[in-house]
Amino acid sequence: MTGKKNIAIMGAGLVGSLLSLYLAKRGYKVDLYERRPDMRTTVIDGGRSINLALSDRGWRALRGIGIEEQVREVAIPMHGRMMHDEQGNLSFLPYGKEGQSIYSVSRGGLNKALMNISEPNPDIDYHFNRQAIDVDIRENKIQLRNTETGELERIIPDLLFGADGAFSAVRGAMQKTERYNYQQDYLEYGYKELTIPATEDGGWALEKNALHIWPRGNYMMIALPNLDGSFTCTLFFPYEGERSFAAIKSETDLHTFFQEAFPDALALMPDLAEEYFGNPVGALVTVKCFPWSFEGKSLLIGDASHAVVPFYGQGMNAGFEDITVLDKMLDSMGDANWEALFKAFERRRKPDADAIADLAVLNFFEMRDKVADPRFLLRKKIETKISAQYPEKWIPLYSMVTFSDLPYSYALDAGRQQDKIMKKVMKHIRSIEDYEKPEVQKLLQKQLVEKEKLK
Ligand code: FAD
Repeated sequence: MTGKKNIAIMGAGLVGSLLSLYLAKRGYKVDLYERRPDMRTTVIDGGRSINLALSDRGWRALRGIGIEEQVREVAIPMHGRMMHDEQGNLSFLPYGKEGQSIYSVSRGGLNKALMNISEPNPDIDYHFNRQAIDVDIRENKIQLRNTETGELERIIPDLLFGADGAFSAVRGAMQKTERYNYQQDYLEYGYKELTIPATEDGGWALEKNALHIWPRGNYMMIALPNLDGSFTCTLFFPYEGERSFAAIKSETDLHTFFQEAFPDALALMPDLAEEYFGNPVGALVTVKCFPWSFEGKSLLIGDASHAVVPFYGQGMNAGFEDITVLDKMLDSMGDANWEALFKAFERRRKPDADAIADLAVLNFFEMRDKVADPRFLLRKKIETKISAQYPEKWIPLYSMVTFSDLPYSYALDAGRQQDKIMKKVMKHIRSIEDYEKPEVQKLLQKQLVEKEKLK
């Protein structure tokens, strides 16, 4: 016994599992309750391989607990976006500076790795097949149902962390308290996962170290590499309309659509029809809520407090950053007053959670509509030049979000200012060479001085 508070974490997903390590390191006894069976011994998610882009904020949290290297072994670097046009022509756009990459990791693989790392810790106990079905938020009494046997049990931890995802039961209980703010917004788009299998010799059928995008205006497909040589493709598609999930009713419809929209991918997808008609359509939701805590007894973390759409590849990274921030605040404030700590945490983190939620929706439009536009590609190249010339004054928005720990809210504001400047600069630019023109350089310098004044 540590004499410290007993902590329950609801949800042993990515955030719950990582959080358990951070709390156990401080000597707390941590119990994780997870409604699903143990994914290390049972196939869940229908055997599909969802993969995620892991970037600097996520790595920082993994490094903070000493497990970065273990995860690097199962992560594939992606140095940039590889765009595929309708004719199958490719163009490559690096994500950042030389050496800056995002990493493709399997969600299940990472979750299992976190479980394997945390479970041997004597202060961490996993309880699988336990679903929170009733949360008495005032008394911290949680009723759990054993999803195998149907048996009920009740726990009363000293502290409860709701890491139970976008449809959190813990948040559901908080929502019933007075003056609780809650907002959820669905995009009119869903997503479906498909596969490009490994080649016969076990290699990758497309460039391995890139995130592939087939931008098509009203819809798009992306693909991230897996360790086994396959790619997981995600089709983001309207629910309704002329080209939509609703419009594709037969194998012929599907084939005709892919032949027109993604011919180069179609040639690499032998199981397309089976997967398309067998896999579910996932919804894309943004959840904003406040507060995230109740009387110093419970705190929401990760998707439970801020689910975002996946277009900035930041949902998990933001959830991991929650843990880094909470850990730092525990260092500075101590654990004598959890209520004050939770209040300070939610006040600090909420503007950043809102910012990444908004940025993720904006990036959807950018990926869908603009990455195929030559003016957009030229603008990106010009921005790279500006940031190389003025590294202290200009970091591209994508880099602030992905390759820094600047607060997301700062990135959103700075990104808006830079966007205004780029619009002015691009009026004078027809080709990359125009960047050197004296009038462009003069305009840029003037704008950068104005930008500094706003700081
Ligand atoms: P979850 O991963 O949802 O885990 C919650 C856990 O709680 C689950 O294990 C669930 O079974 C359990 N649970 C739920 N309810 C209960 C209950 N009542 N009782 C007990 N247990 C319960 N993020 C990135 O950073 N990069 C990406 O590239 C990226 N791509 C994405 C692509 C798609 C298509 C989607 C949908 C999401 C993507 N994300 C990405 C977001 C990322 O998946 C989430 O932000 C991340 O999984 C959140 O982790 P979490 O632990 O907070 O929640």
